[in-house]
Amino acid sequence: MTSTIIKGLGVSEGIRMGKAYVYAPLKLGDRAERKTDAPEAELKRLHQAKARCLEELEELIGQTRQKLGEEKAAILKGQVSFLNDPTFFPPMEQLIRKEGWSAETAVTRVALQIAGIFEKMDNAYMQERAADIKDVGSRLLAQVLEHSGARLSDIRDEVVLVADDLTPSDTVQLDRSLVQGFITRIGGKTSHTAILAQSLGIAAVLGVGGGLDEIRNGDLVILDGSTGECLVRPEETVRQQYIRLMEAERADRERLAAFAARPAATADGFRVEIAANIGTPAEAEGLIAKGAEAVGLYRTEFLFMGSSTMPGEQLQFEAYRAAAQSMEGRPVVIRTLDIGGDKELPYLELEKEMNPFLGYRAIRLCLDRQELLRTQLRAVLRASAFGNLKIMFPMISGLGEWRQAKAIYTEVRAQLEAEGVPMADKVELGIMVEIPSVAVLAHSFAKEVDFFSIGTNDLVQYTVAVDRMNEKVSYLYDYFHPAVIRLIKNVIDAANAHGKWAGMCGSMAGDRLAAPLLLGLGLHEWSMSPGSLHKVKETIAGCSRADCVKLTEEILELETPEEIRAALTAFLDK
Ligand code: PEP
Ligand code: MG
Repeated sequence: MTSTIIKGLGVSEGIRMGKAYVYAPLKLGDRAERKTDAPEAELKRLHQAKARCLEELEELIGQTRQKLGEEKAAILKGQVSFLNDPTFFPPMEQLIRKEGWSAETAVTRVALQIAGIFEKMDNAYMQERAADIKDVGSRLLAQVLEHSGARLSDIRDEVVLVADDLTPSDTVQLDRSLVQGFITRIGGKTSHTAILAQSLGIAAVLGVGGGLDEIRNGDLVILDGSTGECLVRPEETVRQQYIRLMEAERADRERLAAFAARPAATADGFRVEIAANIGTPAEAEGLIAKGAEAVGLYRTEFLFMGSSTMPGEQLQFEAYRAAAQSMEGRPVVIRTLDIGGDKELPYLELEKEMNPFLGYRAIRLCLDRQELLRTQLRAVLRASAFGNLKIMFPMISGLGEWRQAKAIYTEVRAQLEAEGVPMADKVELGIMVEIPSVAVLAHSFAKEVDFFSIGTNDLVQYTVAVDRMNEKVSYLYDYFHPAVIRLIKNVIDAANAHGKWAGMCGSMAGDRLAAPLLLGLGLHEWSMSPGSLHKVKETIAGCSRADCVKLTEEILELETPEEIRAALTAFLDK
């Protein structure tokens, strides 16, 4: 087949090359139920599928043991036991023989029924087994249907992952030593899948649409996570050219690494705090060496999404303590659970909504199901004794919500005090500014909160009415929209007027083009994906604060995002 180029949104930078691994998952219940007139033939299909499954598992167990260790291999061994369990396979045979169901229906019915029993058990360990049963059930189903659909957990070589869509929970599970990059049919610039790709350092191009059909399993693919270009089956000369570009990229990274050890300051000595966004405590390890002075946003929802049941207080406590300890006394801003929008938690059994980003999300959900928030606050407060933790509430839309959240915090703290639990004397409480109503009312909030953190990812979607997930309207999604910039200015001014600090944890903070403007506006803390730290520090070091203030005054007079981008580009190119 000839080579071709497809284009999408470059959401996580890096040029990567590798064999395509086309991921087309098959889920239990995807297929309509079917009866059969030939049960013997169906039984044969079932038995052959089981035999292939066992062969596949045996091979995978060997590879897993070698690459990932015995513990991970044991999970797959558990699948072999399920396949051979008298409560798993024989009931499938019965459904075919006695009731005349097809092999795929028999597999689906039995696997879902057994998983359902485990799900209802009042024990987290047993509930987690439900996911294992579904997993082995869908593995068997794929064999029955001779479905070529791959499984993320089966990736064992270096690949470029190609999929219609990847959920944030798929993305957190990716093994970054194997998955070089990924390309998806749908997805927006600041979807959580994109954000996770950035924090894991995986190059990603989303929203390539129909172009995805050009890629076959095993094709050589090159993707450029900045430009959004993907080259499928490139010619040898093009391949060589990209190998050179990858080498140049590596040299650039090495040059920028020198900025890790330097403080973030402008040429005329204006100092700002540079922080990193994380999704798991493991990401906090080594952050100080990379040059982060704080964690400006710990998206705790990924802890909840990485588990098939609700993480309890102890597990959360250990995660928050680990992040606090890795940062060795530097600030760690823990954001309370921000579920909803594009982040689902199946075990909460939330209803499907027409407009999930405008619906039952984040603090709204937590103020309704307060036990969630109370447990999380207990865990954070217990962990506060081990470092410098701050708490931030997401999706605040009015003073009432903030006051209610703060009141709950005060109650939880009093309870822990009564129990004699050690805690930090002072834990700062702040809010995300990601809804325009709060940015407009920032002066009222600034009297009460300890800090603000501006979430441009949502602030843009709510201010400009543009779905952050939808690639069709992504041309409108721009944090350089003058309306967004005025809101940001209002927040920073309000913080300054009341002696509070204002940070930014949305993607704008990690864009070097925005740096002169954010310096001019006087943003105190900048929190970004770790991959952007060095480049932003380099840009700040190359600016003079006095020039940035002057530029910002001019920018505030401009009326379109294009004019603002042009002014910033010209400034940085000088
Ligand atoms: C934001 O909205 O800018 C933000 C940082 O939060 P999230 O991307 O997790 O919604
Ligand atoms: Mg947000």
